[in-house]
Amino acid sequence: HPQLTTLVETARFHAAHQPGSTAVVCEDRSLTYAELHRESNRIAHAIRAVGAAPGARIAYLGKESEHYYTVLFACAKSETVLVPINWRLAAPEVSHILQDSGSEVLLLEEEFAAVLDRLPTGPPKTVVRLGASDGLSAWKADHPDTDPPCSATSDTPVAQLYTSGTTGLPKGVVLAHRSFFAIRDALASENLDWIDWRAGDIALVGIPGFHVGGLWWATQNFNAGATVAAMRAFAPRDAIDLIRDKGITTACVVPAMLRMMLAEPGVTPDDFTTLRKIVYGGSPISEALLEDSLSMFGSEFAQIYGLTETGNTAVCLPPADHVPGHPRMKAAGHPYPGVGCKVIDGDGKELPPGTVGEICLATPARMVEYWDLPDKTAETLVDGWIHTGDAGYVDDDGYVFIQDRIKDAILVAGENVYPAEIENVLERHPGVAEAVIVGAPDERWGESVHAFVVPAAGQEPAPRELHRFLVDRLAAFKLPARYEFIDHVPRNPSGKILRRELRERFWTGSDRKVN
Ligand code: ATP
Repeated sequence: HPQLTTLVETARFHAAHQPGSTAVVCEDRSLTYAELHRESNRIAHAIRAVGAAPGARIAYLGKESEHYYTVLFACAKSETVLVPINWRLAAPEVSHILQDSGSEVLLLEEEFAAVLDRLPTGPPKTVVRLGASDGLSAWKADHPDTDPPCSATSDTPVAQLYTSGTTGLPKGVVLAHRSFFAIRDALASENLDWIDWRAGDIALVGIPGFHVGGLWWATQNFNAGATVAAMRAFAPRDAIDLIRDKGITTACVVPAMLRMMLAEPGVTPDDFTTLRKIVYGGSPISEALLEDSLSMFGSEFAQIYGLTETGNTAVCLPPADHVPGHPRMKAAGHPYPGVGCKVIDGDGKELPPGTVGEICLATPARMVEYWDLPDKTAETLVDGWIHTGDAGYVDDDGYVFIQDRIKDAILVAGENVYPAEIENVLERHPGVAEAVIVGAPDERWGESVHAFVVPAAGQEPAPRELHRFLVDRLAAFKLPARYEFIDHVPRNPSGKILRRELRERFWTGSDRKVN
Protein backbone atom coordinates (compact mmCIF):
# COMPACT_ATOMS: atom_id res chain seq x y z
CA HIS A 1 0.00 0.00 0.00
CA PRO A 2 1.15 3.53 -0.60
CA GLN A 3 1.18 5.85 2.38
CA LEU A 4 -2.55 6.52 2.74
CA THR A 5 -3.19 9.60 4.88
CA THR A 6 -6.89 10.40 4.46
CA LEU A 7 -10.10 8.43 4.02
CA VAL A 8 -10.43 10.16 0.65
CA GLU A 9 -7.25 8.42 -0.50
CA THR A 10 -8.45 5.13 0.98
CA ALA A 11 -11.63 5.18 -1.11
CA ARG A 12 -9.80 6.18 -4.29
CA PHE A 13 -6.99 3.70 -3.87
CA HIS A 14 -9.11 0.60 -3.37
CA ALA A 15 -11.60 1.65 -6.05
CA ALA A 16 -8.67 1.81 -8.47
CA HIS A 17 -6.88 -1.35 -7.37
CA GLN A 18 -9.63 -3.75 -6.34
CA PRO A 19 -12.86 -2.26 -7.71
CA GLY A 20 -14.75 -5.54 -7.60
CA SER A 21 -13.88 -6.54 -4.02
CA THR A 22 -16.61 -6.23 -1.42
CA ALA A 23 -16.08 -3.19 0.77
CA VAL A 24 -19.11 -3.53 3.00
CA VAL A 25 -21.82 -6.07 3.56
CA CYS A 26 -24.95 -5.59 5.69
CA GLU A 27 -27.74 -8.16 5.78
CA ASP A 28 -28.42 -9.05 2.13
CA ARG A 29 -26.90 -5.89 0.66
CA SER A 30 -23.30 -5.17 -0.22
CA LEU A 31 -21.15 -2.59 -1.98
CA THR A 32 -17.91 -3.15 -3.86
CA TYR A 33 -15.06 -0.70 -3.46
CA ALA A 34 -15.95 0.79 -6.85
CA GLU A 35 -19.57 1.30 -5.74
CA LEU A 36 -18.56 2.72 -2.37
CA HIS A 37 -16.35 5.23 -4.17
CA ARG A 38 -18.95 6.25 -6.75
CA GLU A 39 -21.85 6.45 -4.28
CA SER A 40 -19.86 8.50 -1.81
CA ASN A 41 -18.79 10.84 -4.63
CA ARG A 42 -22.44 11.47 -5.50
CA ILE A 43 -23.37 12.14 -1.89
CA ALA A 44 -20.35 14.46 -1.50
CA HIS A 45 -21.62 16.51 -4.46
CA ALA A 46 -25.12 16.49 -2.96
CA ILE A 47 -23.78 17.76 0.37
CA ARG A 48 -22.00 20.61 -1.37
CA ALA A 49 -25.09 21.36 -3.47
CA VAL A 50 -27.25 22.12 -0.40
CA GLY A 51 -24.71 24.73 0.61
CA ALA A 52 -22.74 22.79 3.22
CA ALA A 53 -19.24 24.27 3.06
CA PRO A 54 -16.03 22.59 4.23
CA GLY A 55 -16.23 22.18 8.01
CA ALA A 56 -20.04 21.92 8.02
CA ARG A 57 -21.49 19.24 10.31
CA ILE A 58 -23.53 16.39 8.77
CA ALA A 59 -25.55 14.40 11.31
CA TYR A 60 -26.47 10.75 10.85
CA LEU A 61 -29.17 9.08 12.92
CA GLY A 62 -29.63 5.44 12.05
CA LYS A 63 -28.50 1.92 12.73
CA GLU A 64 -25.49 0.37 11.07
CA SER A 65 -25.83 -0.05 7.32
CA GLU A 66 -23.86 0.38 4.10
CA HIS A 67 -25.31 3.92 3.93
CA TYR A 68 -23.48 4.89 7.07
CA TYR A 69 -20.14 4.22 5.41
CA THR A 70 -21.00 5.87 2.10
CA VAL A 71 -21.95 8.96 4.09
CA LEU A 72 -18.70 8.76 6.06
CA PHE A 73 -16.64 8.77 2.86
CA ALA A 74 -18.89 11.47 1.38
CA CYS A 75 -18.14 13.70 4.37
CA ALA A 76 -14.42 13.05 3.93
CA LYS A 77 -14.63 13.95 0.23
CA SER A 78 -16.72 17.09 0.78
CA GLU A 79 -14.45 18.14 3.69
CA THR A 80 -17.46 18.15 6.00
CA VAL A 81 -17.64 16.48 9.40
CA LEU A 82 -19.80 13.43 10.15
CA VAL A 83 -21.74 13.57 13.42
CA PRO A 84 -23.07 10.07 14.05
CA ILE A 85 -25.82 9.99 16.69
CA ASN A 86 -26.55 7.09 18.99
CA TRP A 87 -30.02 5.94 17.89
CA ARG A 88 -30.86 4.79 21.40
CA LEU A 89 -30.85 8.36 22.69
CA ALA A 90 -34.06 10.11 23.69
CA ALA A 91 -35.31 13.12 21.70
CA PRO A 92 -33.87 15.77 24.10
CA GLU A 93 -30.45 14.14 23.84
CA VAL A 94 -30.59 13.96 20.04
CA SER A 95 -31.68 17.56 20.09
CA HIS A 96 -28.67 18.52 22.23
CA ILE A 97 -26.28 16.93 19.74
CA LEU A 98 -27.93 18.47 16.67
CA GLN A 99 -27.90 21.87 18.27
CA ASP A 100 -24.44 21.67 19.80
CA SER A 101 -22.89 20.50 16.54
CA GLY A 102 -24.87 23.00 14.45
CA SER A 103 -25.54 20.23 11.95
CA GLU A 104 -26.80 21.59 8.63
CA VAL A 105 -27.83 18.24 7.18
CA LEU A 106 -29.48 15.30 8.94
CA LEU A 107 -29.52 11.85 7.38
CA LEU A 108 -32.28 10.06 9.18
CA GLU A 109 -33.50 6.49 9.10
CA GLU A 110 -37.27 6.24 8.74
CA GLU A 111 -37.42 4.25 11.99
CA PHE A 112 -36.31 7.28 14.00
CA ALA A 113 -38.31 9.93 12.13
CA ALA A 114 -40.58 10.62 15.14
CA VAL A 115 -37.72 12.55 16.70
CA LEU A 116 -38.28 15.34 14.15
CA ASP A 117 -41.51 16.39 15.88
CA ARG A 118 -39.78 16.67 19.21
CA LEU A 119 -36.89 18.97 18.42
CA PRO A 120 -37.54 22.28 20.22
CA THR A 121 -35.39 24.27 17.78
CA GLY A 122 -36.67 22.43 14.71
CA PRO A 123 -34.79 20.08 12.39
CA PRO A 124 -31.61 21.02 10.49
CA LYS A 125 -31.94 22.85 7.17
CA THR A 126 -31.77 19.67 5.08
CA VAL A 127 -33.24 16.35 6.20
CA VAL A 128 -32.68 13.29 4.03
CA ARG A 129 -34.70 10.19 4.85
CA LEU A 130 -33.07 6.78 4.59
CA GLY A 131 -35.15 3.63 4.27
CA ALA A 132 -38.56 2.96 2.81
CA SER A 133 -39.05 6.30 1.08
CA ASP A 134 -35.39 6.17 -0.01
CA GLY A 135 -34.76 9.87 0.04
CA LEU A 136 -31.04 9.20 -0.23
CA SER A 137 -31.30 7.75 -3.76
CA ALA A 138 -33.32 10.74 -4.89
CA TRP A 139 -30.99 13.18 -3.16
CA LYS A 140 -27.86 11.90 -4.84
CA ALA A 141 -29.44 10.93 -8.19
CA ASP A 142 -28.72 14.18 -10.03
CA HIS A 143 -25.11 14.32 -9.03
CA PRO A 144 -22.10 12.90 -10.87
CA ASP A 145 -20.09 9.99 -9.53
CA THR A 146 -16.80 11.72 -10.31
CA ASP A 147 -14.32 12.83 -7.62
CA PRO A 148 -15.33 16.20 -6.16
CA PRO A 149 -12.50 18.70 -5.70
CA CYS A 150 -11.02 18.02 -2.28
CA SER A 151 -8.01 19.35 -0.43
CA ALA A 152 -8.39 17.37 2.81
CA THR A 153 -5.16 16.56 4.66
CA SER A 154 -4.49 14.29 7.61
CA ASP A 155 -5.30 17.25 9.90
CA THR A 156 -8.73 17.97 8.41
CA PRO A 157 -11.58 17.09 10.82
CA VAL A 158 -13.77 14.28 9.50
CA ALA A 159 -15.85 13.06 12.45
CA GLN A 160 -17.33 14.51 15.60
CA LEU A 161 -18.27 11.83 18.10
CA TYR A 162 -20.25 12.52 21.22
CA THR A 163 -18.91 10.76 24.30
CA SER A 164 -21.63 8.62 25.76
CA GLY A 165 -21.91 10.88 28.75
CA THR A 166 -21.34 8.25 31.42
CA THR A 167 -19.47 11.04 33.22
CA GLY A 168 -21.60 14.06 32.34
CA LEU A 169 -23.19 15.91 29.43
CA PRO A 170 -22.00 14.51 26.08
CA LYS A 171 -19.12 16.45 24.54
CA GLY A 172 -18.36 16.48 20.81
CA VAL A 173 -14.89 15.02 20.25
CA VAL A 174 -13.48 16.28 16.95
CA LEU A 175 -11.29 13.75 15.15
CA ALA A 176 -9.19 14.45 12.05
CA HIS A 177 -8.21 11.89 9.41
CA ARG A 178 -4.96 11.21 11.24
CA SER A 179 -6.88 9.50 14.08
CA PHE A 180 -7.74 6.75 11.61
CA PHE A 181 -4.18 6.26 10.29
CA ALA A 182 -1.73 6.96 13.11
CA ILE A 183 -1.91 3.63 14.94
CA ARG A 184 -1.70 1.54 11.78
CA ASP A 185 1.38 3.55 10.75
CA ALA A 186 2.87 3.18 14.23
CA LEU A 187 2.52 -0.63 14.09
CA ALA A 188 3.91 -0.72 10.54
CA SER A 189 6.90 1.42 11.54
CA GLU A 190 8.18 -1.40 13.71
CA ASN A 191 6.66 -4.29 11.81
CA LEU A 192 4.46 -5.23 14.75
CA ASP A 193 1.58 -7.61 14.12
CA TRP A 194 -0.38 -6.85 17.32
CA ILE A 195 -3.34 -6.09 15.10
CA ASP A 196 -2.70 -7.08 11.51
CA TRP A 197 -5.37 -5.98 9.09
CA ARG A 198 -5.38 -7.92 5.82
CA ALA A 199 -7.12 -7.29 2.51
CA GLY A 200 -8.63 -10.78 2.65
CA ASP A 201 -10.33 -10.23 6.01
CA ILE A 202 -14.05 -10.19 6.58
CA ALA A 203 -14.30 -8.02 9.66
CA LEU A 204 -17.27 -7.98 11.99
CA VAL A 205 -18.12 -4.55 13.38
CA GLY A 206 -19.77 -5.41 16.68
CA ILE A 207 -19.38 -2.00 18.31
CA PRO A 208 -21.82 0.54 16.84
CA GLY A 209 -20.42 3.05 14.36
CA PHE A 210 -21.50 6.08 16.39
CA HIS A 211 -18.95 4.92 18.96
CA VAL A 212 -15.27 5.51 18.30
CA GLY A 213 -14.50 1.78 18.62
CA GLY A 214 -16.86 0.84 15.80
CA LEU A 215 -15.89 3.71 13.50
CA TRP A 216 -12.18 3.13 14.08
CA TRP A 217 -12.43 -0.61 13.44
CA ALA A 218 -14.41 -0.15 10.23
CA THR A 219 -11.98 2.46 8.89
CA GLN A 220 -8.94 0.29 9.69
CA ASN A 221 -10.46 -2.46 7.60
CA PHE A 222 -11.29 -0.10 4.75
CA ASN A 223 -7.71 1.17 4.85
CA ALA A 224 -6.55 -2.42 4.42
CA GLY A 225 -9.02 -3.10 1.61
CA ALA A 226 -10.84 -5.73 3.68
CA THR A 227 -14.60 -6.39 3.84
CA VAL A 228 -16.55 -4.70 6.63
CA ALA A 229 -19.46 -6.82 7.86
CA ALA A 230 -21.88 -4.47 9.57
CA MET A 231 -24.64 -5.60 11.91
CA ARG A 232 -27.73 -3.39 12.06
CA ALA A 233 -27.47 -3.75 15.83
CA PHE A 234 -25.53 -6.24 17.90
CA ALA A 235 -27.36 -9.34 19.12
CA PRO A 236 -25.35 -12.35 20.31
CA ARG A 237 -27.21 -15.02 18.31
CA ASP A 238 -27.03 -12.94 15.13
CA ALA A 239 -23.31 -12.36 15.65
CA ILE A 240 -22.60 -16.07 16.07
CA ASP A 241 -24.65 -16.91 12.95
CA LEU A 242 -22.97 -14.17 10.97
CA ILE A 243 -19.49 -15.36 11.96
CA ARG A 244 -20.31 -18.87 10.77
CA ASP A 245 -22.34 -18.02 7.67
CA LYS A 246 -20.14 -15.23 6.35
CA GLY A 247 -16.82 -16.78 7.35
CA ILE A 248 -15.89 -13.81 9.52
CA THR A 249 -12.13 -13.69 10.16
CA THR A 250 -11.76 -10.78 12.59
CA ALA A 251 -14.02 -8.93 15.02
CA CYS A 252 -13.91 -5.93 17.31
CA VAL A 253 -16.14 -6.17 20.37
CA VAL A 254 -16.58 -4.91 23.91
CA PRO A 255 -16.26 -7.39 26.80
CA ALA A 256 -20.04 -7.37 27.33
CA MET A 257 -20.48 -8.79 23.80
CA LEU A 258 -18.06 -11.64 24.52
CA ARG A 259 -20.04 -12.39 27.66
CA MET A 260 -23.35 -12.43 25.75
CA MET A 261 -22.01 -14.73 23.04
CA LEU A 262 -20.60 -17.15 25.62
CA ALA A 263 -24.00 -17.28 27.32
CA GLU A 264 -25.90 -18.22 24.12
CA PRO A 265 -27.42 -21.67 24.45
CA GLY A 266 -25.68 -24.29 22.34
CA VAL A 267 -22.67 -22.20 21.42
CA THR A 268 -19.49 -24.23 20.77
CA PRO A 269 -15.96 -23.54 19.50
CA ASP A 270 -17.09 -25.06 16.16
CA ASP A 271 -19.10 -21.89 15.55
CA PHE A 272 -15.89 -19.87 15.33
CA THR A 273 -13.50 -21.86 13.15
CA THR A 274 -13.04 -19.02 10.63
CA LEU A 275 -12.13 -16.40 13.24
CA ARG A 276 -8.43 -15.57 13.38
CA LYS A 277 -8.46 -12.52 15.66
CA ILE A 278 -10.69 -10.82 18.19
CA VAL A 279 -9.89 -7.27 19.20
CA TYR A 280 -11.68 -6.23 22.39
CA GLY A 281 -11.73 -3.27 24.76
CA GLY A 282 -13.77 -0.28 25.83
CA SER A 283 -14.26 -1.37 29.42
CA PRO A 284 -12.36 -3.48 31.94
CA ILE A 285 -12.52 -7.23 31.31
CA SER A 286 -12.43 -9.76 34.14
CA GLU A 287 -9.83 -12.49 33.91
CA ALA A 288 -12.58 -15.08 34.23
CA LEU A 289 -14.31 -13.74 31.12
CA LEU A 290 -11.05 -13.42 29.21
CA GLU A 291 -10.03 -17.01 29.98
CA ASP A 292 -13.46 -18.37 29.03
CA SER A 293 -13.30 -16.38 25.79
CA LEU A 294 -9.85 -17.68 24.91
CA SER A 295 -11.02 -21.26 25.11
CA MET A 296 -14.34 -20.71 23.35
CA PHE A 297 -13.30 -18.56 20.39
CA GLY A 298 -9.94 -20.23 19.79
CA SER A 299 -8.61 -17.19 17.89
CA GLU A 300 -5.84 -14.75 18.72
CA PHE A 301 -6.89 -11.96 21.08
CA ALA A 302 -5.69 -8.37 21.28
CA GLN A 303 -6.93 -5.92 23.90
CA ILE A 304 -7.19 -2.24 23.13
CA TYR A 305 -7.40 0.62 25.60
CA GLY A 306 -8.15 4.23 24.85
CA LEU A 307 -10.79 6.93 24.81
CA THR A 308 -12.72 8.79 22.15
CA GLU A 309 -10.33 11.64 22.95
CA THR A 310 -7.27 9.53 22.08
CA GLY A 311 -8.79 8.56 18.72
CA ASN A 312 -9.59 5.18 20.21
CA THR A 313 -6.72 2.89 21.09
CA ALA A 314 -3.39 4.14 22.43
CA VAL A 315 -2.43 0.94 24.26
CA CYS A 316 -2.66 -2.68 23.12
CA LEU A 317 -2.18 -6.04 24.79
CA PRO A 318 -0.84 -8.16 21.93
CA PRO A 319 -1.85 -11.78 21.33
CA ALA A 320 1.49 -13.04 22.72
CA ASP A 321 0.60 -11.63 26.15
CA HIS A 322 -2.63 -13.60 26.38
CA VAL A 323 -1.27 -16.37 28.55
CA PRO A 324 -3.73 -17.56 31.24
CA GLY A 325 -2.29 -17.14 34.72
CA HIS A 326 0.40 -14.69 33.59
CA PRO A 327 0.31 -11.30 35.41
CA ARG A 328 0.13 -9.49 32.07
CA MET A 329 -3.36 -10.90 31.55
CA LYS A 330 -4.36 -8.16 34.01
CA ALA A 331 -2.77 -5.42 31.89
CA ALA A 332 -4.58 -3.27 29.33
CA GLY A 333 -1.41 -3.47 27.25
CA HIS A 334 1.63 -1.55 26.05
CA PRO A 335 1.57 1.83 24.29
CA TYR A 336 2.09 1.65 20.52
CA PRO A 337 5.43 2.87 19.16
CA GLY A 338 5.45 6.67 19.30
CA VAL A 339 2.69 6.83 21.93
CA GLY A 340 3.65 8.29 25.31
CA CYS A 341 2.15 7.16 28.60
CA LYS A 342 2.77 8.73 31.99
CA VAL A 343 1.10 8.53 35.37
CA ILE A 344 0.59 11.69 37.44
CA ASP A 345 -0.64 12.54 40.92
CA GLY A 346 -3.28 15.14 41.81
CA ASP A 347 -0.71 17.93 41.49
CA GLY A 348 0.38 16.86 38.04
CA LYS A 349 3.69 15.38 39.26
CA GLU A 350 4.89 12.32 37.35
CA LEU A 351 4.86 9.13 39.41
CA PRO A 352 7.37 6.25 39.29
CA PRO A 353 6.50 2.79 37.89
CA GLY A 354 4.14 0.77 40.05
CA THR A 355 2.46 3.80 41.65
CA VAL A 356 -1.24 4.42 40.98
CA GLY A 357 -2.27 7.80 39.61
CA GLU A 358 -3.99 9.30 36.59
CA ILE A 359 -3.00 7.82 33.23
CA CYS A 360 -2.02 10.42 30.61
CA LEU A 361 -1.48 9.58 26.95
CA ALA A 362 0.35 11.45 24.18
CA THR A 363 -0.74 9.97 20.86
CA PRO A 364 -0.63 11.14 17.24
CA ALA A 365 -4.23 9.88 16.97
CA ARG A 366 -5.53 12.31 19.60
CA MET A 367 -8.55 14.55 19.11
CA VAL A 368 -8.34 18.03 17.66
CA GLU A 369 -10.57 19.47 20.41
CA TYR A 370 -13.90 19.24 22.17
CA TRP A 371 -16.29 21.07 19.89
CA ASP A 372 -17.02 24.59 21.12
CA LEU A 373 -15.63 23.88 24.61
CA PRO A 374 -12.20 25.54 24.78
CA ASP A 375 -12.03 25.34 28.58
CA LYS A 376 -12.82 21.62 28.68
CA THR A 377 -10.31 21.07 25.88
CA ALA A 378 -7.62 22.89 27.86
CA GLU A 379 -8.38 20.77 30.94
CA THR A 380 -8.13 17.45 29.10
CA LEU A 381 -5.47 18.15 26.46
CA VAL A 382 -2.44 19.62 28.21
CA ASP A 383 0.81 20.09 26.23
CA GLY A 384 -0.14 17.25 23.91
CA TRP A 385 -1.13 14.91 26.75
CA ILE A 386 -4.68 13.60 27.09
CA HIS A 387 -5.62 13.33 30.77
CA THR A 388 -7.72 10.18 30.71
CA GLY A 389 -9.55 10.32 34.03
CA ASP A 390 -8.53 6.68 34.49
CA ALA A 391 -6.62 5.47 37.53
CA GLY A 392 -3.81 3.05 36.88
CA TYR A 393 -0.09 2.42 36.86
CA VAL A 394 2.70 1.40 34.52
CA ASP A 395 5.06 -1.45 35.37
CA ASP A 396 8.83 -1.59 34.79
CA ASP A 397 8.32 -3.04 31.31
CA GLY A 398 6.01 -0.21 30.27
CA TYR A 399 2.77 -2.23 30.52
CA VAL A 400 -0.26 -0.19 31.50
CA PHE A 401 -2.64 -1.47 34.18
CA ILE A 402 -6.02 0.26 34.41
CA GLN A 403 -7.69 0.26 37.80
CA ASP A 404 -10.91 2.04 36.91
CA ARG A 405 -12.21 5.51 36.30
CA ILE A 406 -11.01 7.93 38.96
CA LYS A 407 -14.57 9.20 39.34
CA ASP A 408 -15.79 5.68 40.09
CA ALA A 409 -13.32 5.16 42.93
CA ILE A 410 -14.97 4.64 46.30
CA LEU A 411 -13.34 6.38 49.24
CA VAL A 412 -13.49 4.07 52.26
CA ALA A 413 -11.82 5.56 55.35
CA GLY A 414 -9.38 7.46 53.16
CA GLU A 415 -8.49 4.46 50.97
CA ASN A 416 -9.37 4.38 47.25
CA VAL A 417 -11.30 1.29 46.28
CA TYR A 418 -11.64 0.59 42.55
CA PRO A 419 -14.89 -1.21 41.62
CA ALA A 420 -13.35 -3.18 38.74
CA GLU A 421 -10.94 -4.97 41.07
CA ILE A 422 -13.71 -6.28 43.34
CA GLU A 423 -15.98 -7.11 40.38
CA ASN A 424 -13.14 -9.08 38.85
CA VAL A 425 -12.71 -11.22 41.97
CA LEU A 426 -16.45 -11.70 42.59
CA GLU A 427 -16.94 -12.94 39.02
CA ARG A 428 -14.56 -15.79 39.78
CA HIS A 429 -17.18 -17.22 42.15
CA PRO A 430 -19.14 -19.92 40.30
CA GLY A 431 -22.45 -18.57 41.63
CA VAL A 432 -21.88 -15.13 40.12
CA ALA A 433 -22.60 -14.22 36.50
CA GLU A 434 -21.85 -10.52 36.85
CA ALA A 435 -21.10 -8.08 39.63
CA VAL A 436 -21.21 -4.29 39.90
CA ILE A 437 -19.66 -2.41 42.78
CA VAL A 438 -20.70 1.11 43.78
CA GLY A 439 -20.11 3.37 46.77
CA ALA A 440 -22.89 4.03 49.27
CA PRO A 441 -22.83 6.67 52.01
CA ASP A 442 -21.49 5.45 55.33
CA GLU A 443 -21.57 7.53 58.51
CA ARG A 444 -18.49 6.02 59.97
CA TRP A 445 -16.20 5.49 56.97
CA GLY A 446 -17.48 8.11 54.52
CA GLU A 447 -18.39 5.51 51.93
CA SER A 448 -18.95 1.80 51.99
CA VAL A 449 -18.80 -0.81 49.24
CA HIS A 450 -22.14 -2.01 47.92
CA ALA A 451 -22.19 -5.11 45.69
CA PHE A 452 -24.87 -5.75 43.08
CA VAL A 453 -24.78 -9.37 41.95
CA VAL A 454 -26.40 -11.10 38.98
CA PRO A 455 -26.47 -14.78 40.00
CA ALA A 456 -25.28 -17.41 37.53
CA ALA A 457 -28.12 -19.40 35.90
CA GLY A 458 -29.83 -21.64 38.45
CA GLN A 459 -27.69 -20.42 41.36
CA GLU A 460 -28.56 -18.51 44.52
CA PRO A 461 -25.31 -17.75 46.28
CA ALA A 462 -25.76 -16.61 49.89
CA PRO A 463 -24.22 -13.22 50.77
CA ARG A 464 -22.33 -14.90 53.60
CA GLU A 465 -20.72 -17.31 51.19
CA LEU A 466 -19.74 -14.56 48.72
CA HIS A 467 -18.25 -12.67 51.62
CA ARG A 468 -16.17 -15.64 52.72
CA PHE A 469 -14.92 -16.00 49.15
CA LEU A 470 -13.78 -12.37 49.09
CA VAL A 471 -12.23 -12.33 52.58
CA ASP A 472 -9.52 -14.70 51.37
CA ARG A 473 -8.76 -12.60 48.32
CA LEU A 474 -9.14 -8.90 49.15
CA ALA A 475 -8.04 -6.41 51.81
CA ALA A 476 -10.65 -5.81 54.53
CA PHE A 477 -11.43 -2.22 53.49
CA LYS A 478 -12.41 -3.44 50.01
CA LEU A 479 -15.03 -5.91 51.26
CA PRO A 480 -18.66 -5.11 50.43
CA ALA A 481 -20.80 -4.00 53.36
CA ARG A 482 -23.91 -5.24 51.55
CA TYR A 483 -24.88 -7.58 48.72
CA GLU A 484 -27.95 -7.07 46.59
CA PHE A 485 -29.18 -9.41 43.87
CA ILE A 486 -30.33 -8.01 40.51
CA ASP A 487 -31.48 -9.50 37.16
CA HIS A 488 -29.21 -7.66 34.78
CA VAL A 489 -26.53 -5.00 34.69
CA PRO A 490 -27.53 -1.69 33.07
CA ARG A 491 -25.04 -0.85 30.32
CA ASN A 492 -24.71 1.71 27.56
CA PRO A 493 -24.40 0.56 23.92
CA SER A 494 -20.62 0.53 24.16
CA GLY A 495 -20.85 -1.96 27.01
CA LYS A 496 -20.02 0.39 29.86
CA ILE A 497 -21.74 -0.19 33.16
CA LEU A 498 -24.16 2.62 33.98
CA ARG A 499 -23.00 2.87 37.57
CA ARG A 500 -24.85 6.12 37.97
CA GLU A 501 -28.18 4.30 37.61
CA LEU A 502 -27.30 1.87 40.38
CA ARG A 503 -25.65 4.48 42.59
CA GLU A 504 -28.32 7.13 42.33
CA ARG A 505 -30.72 5.95 44.98
CA PHE A 506 -28.04 5.93 47.66
CA TRP A 507 -27.15 9.53 47.11
CA THR A 508 -30.35 11.41 46.33
CA GLY A 509 -30.65 14.36 48.64
CA SER A 510 -26.99 14.15 49.65
CA ASP A 511 -24.19 16.54 48.79
CA ARG A 512 -22.05 14.10 46.88
CA LYS A 513 -22.25 14.49 43.11
CA VAL A 514 -23.43 11.27 41.52
CA ASN A 515 -21.15 10.88 38.51
P1 ATP B 1 -17.75 9.62 28.88
O1 ATP B 1 -16.31 10.04 28.80
O2 ATP B 1 -18.69 10.75 28.69
O3 ATP B 1 -18.06 8.83 30.07
P2 ATP B 1 -17.56 7.22 27.24
O4 ATP B 1 -17.67 6.32 28.40
O5 ATP B 1 -18.25 6.79 26.01
O6 ATP B 1 -18.04 8.69 27.61
P3 ATP B 1 -15.18 6.52 25.90
O7 ATP B 1 -14.20 7.43 25.27
O8 ATP B 1 -16.00 5.71 25.01
O9 ATP B 1 -16.05 7.42 26.86
O10 ATP B 1 -14.52 5.51 26.90
C1 ATP B 1 -13.22 5.64 27.38
C2 ATP B 1 -13.10 4.91 28.70
O11 ATP B 1 -13.38 3.51 28.55
C3 ATP B 1 -11.70 4.94 29.25
O12 ATP B 1 -11.44 6.17 29.90
C4 ATP B 1 -11.70 3.75 30.19
O13 ATP B 1 -12.27 4.07 31.43
C5 ATP B 1 -12.61 2.75 29.48
N1 ATP B 1 -11.82 1.75 28.74
C6 ATP B 1 -11.59 1.69 27.41
N2 ATP B 1 -10.84 0.62 27.09
C7 ATP B 1 -10.58 -0.04 28.24
C8 ATP B 1 -9.84 -1.22 28.57
N3 ATP B 1 -9.22 -1.95 27.66
N4 ATP B 1 -9.78 -1.56 29.89
C9 ATP B 1 -10.38 -0.82 30.82
N5 ATP B 1 -11.10 0.28 30.57
C10 ATP B 1 -11.20 0.68 29.30
